Amino acid sequence: RKLGYAIVGLGSYGLGIIAPQFKNCKNSKLVALVSGDAAKAKRVAQEYGVPEKNLYNYQNYDEIRNNPDIDIVYVCLPVSMHAEYTIRAAKAGKHVLCEKPMAVSSAECESMIAACRQAGKKLMIGYRCHFEPYNLEARRIARAGEIGKLRYFRSEHGFHFRDPNAWRLKKALAGGGSMMDIGIYALNAARYMTGEEPTAVYAQETTDRKDPRFREVEDMIGFQLEFPSGVIGSCQSMYSANQNHILLVGDKGRVEMEPATGYQGNRMWVGGNGRDKEVTPPPGPGATQWAGQLDHMAQCVLQDREPIVGGQEGLRDLRIIEAIYQSAREQKRIVLKA
Ligand code: NAD
Repeated sequence: RKLGYAIVGLGSYGLGIIAPQFKNCKNSKLVALVSGDAAKAKRVAQEYGVPEKNLYNYQNYDEIRNNPDIDIVYVCLPVSMHAEYTIRAAKAGKHVLCEKPMAVSSAECESMIAACRQAGKKLMIGYRCHFEPYNLEARRIARAGEIGKLRYFRSEHGFHFRDPNAWRLKKALAGGGSMMDIGIYALNAARYMTGEEPTAVYAQETTDRKDPRFREVEDMIGFQLEFPSGVIGSCQSMYSANQNHILLVGDKGRVEMEPATGYQGNRMWVGGNGRDKEVTPPPGPGATQWAGQLDHMAQCVLQDREPIVGGQEGLRDLRIIEAIYQSAREQKRIVLKA
């Protein structure tokens, strides 16, 4: 059976990446759109066969409660709007898949989790790499001990940001800079690759505040993560250079990925001692990482299971990001609460 999704926010991700993915899904279909631009919504609806009665805007959004076609709402809005549109969806009796980062603060994450729990609805965060074959294979290799005892994890994630007017550079809309948007991939990967939760962080920020892009949010932030087993995570996040890399080093070998978390074209080498071999992973759970993600949420609803990347996963990242910002600000190591 296919459950019906409503996409909220027809921007580059909701419209450009998610909408075309339903054709690859087994348990998910696109049935409704929520947009501030009626003409655009109508055009997109025609393209995807969405009935006109299932088009909503930000004002009449709550009326989705009366629409049995919609099972799941997919929130693809600027970060500062995630909490409001998740909570309104839960109150309207809908399950929610919300994009990363989950919200602008851990307090907002907590209110989203509470609202979904109160409404008895599932909440999942759009961590697509948990459905991406290269990331799944690297995680399997690391956790199976195939490169020995893990010693360190390294990752750089960034892209060269050009548009100084973008919402991602406005603190109120984005919650922060590169760390919230792209550094979160390094942080989340450090956690799922090691299978451990960091116990302390230390971070350093480098931002040219005279650069018109970085008046409100950070450009580059480097952070160290300490894990209980002794593994060290060493990560760079930036908005001033293109970089997408993960390296996992164990006492018997290593896994390297570059690009590591891309939409496509990811590559991976396994080995060590100068004898790395390129590896092609087995297929992931879906035809694409997005189909795997969309269908996982639908299956969780159908089978009453918790999503593997639920609200708690988003909240954990936000708590660590807050500690990273605090560490950079106060120039000291921050111990994380268990
Ligand atoms: P975008 O700017 O392209 O789209 C945002 C949409 O929100 C637009 O349709 C815009 O009209 C709408 N919107 C409503 N109110 C707005 C306001 N006040 N200001 C700006 N836009 C407003 O952004 P995007 O790249 O599609 O990102 C949307 C979400 O998706 C973000 O949370 C982002 O982090 C996430 N995202 C995730 C991935 C991923 O790989 N998982 C990739 C890209 C984006």
